[in-house]
Amino acid sequence: MTGLKAVLFDMDGTLIHSEYDWPAIRAELEVDGPSIIDALNALPALQRTESWARLEAIERKASLGAVMVEGADDLLRLLTEQGVKTALVTNNSTENTEGLMGRFGLSFDVVITRDSGLYKPSGAPLVEAMRRLGVSGAETVAVGDSHYDVRAAREAGCSQVIIVNGGCRRWGKDADHAFENLRDLGDFLDKQSRQRR
Ligand SMILES: [Mg+2]
Repeated sequence: MTGLKAVLFDMDGTLIHSEYDWPAIRAELEVDGPSIIDALNALPALQRTESWARLEAIERKASLGAVMVEGADDLLRLLTEQGVKTALVTNNSTENTEGLMGRFGLSFDVVITRDSGLYKPSGAPLVEAMRRLGVSGAETVAVGDSHYDVRAAREAGCSQVIIVNGGCRRWGKDADHAFENLRDLGDFLDKQSRQRR
């Protein structure tokens, strides 16, 4: 790591808690492949429209009950103060993402949603975020809560991938670091960003 210049955040489960029962959602949408987005996009036109509408309704409902993860706002403020750039890279929709950011007063230098056509577990949305931020993988850390975040960050060449919150127990072993809460992550990133001074 050459010095921390940017942090790429996942949204759901990382900075925002939303209730998603993915096994139930997969059953409802009749998806058994690894990626729900890919599975829906591969459907015949009429069915594709219907299934996307159902997924969007589920997501809208989940967003209504969403809460900010404790410390998310403090963490983003700390990074801004340290001159570290931030990006939000989410497989959620632009509509939901902007609604949640507005409700919780969160802002980022770059926001990339699935509506860009780029989505995890591909590394492409993270690569695009780094391109827009003007940073290299060596200067960038990715933070998420699932194996999709780990896979995408590895493919994108981020220097470190960090798993937080409830994802720790399940996916922490695949990451470079795992923290149970955002305060511990903040302490860690604070030290990393000071190292370059
Ligand atoms: Mg997530």
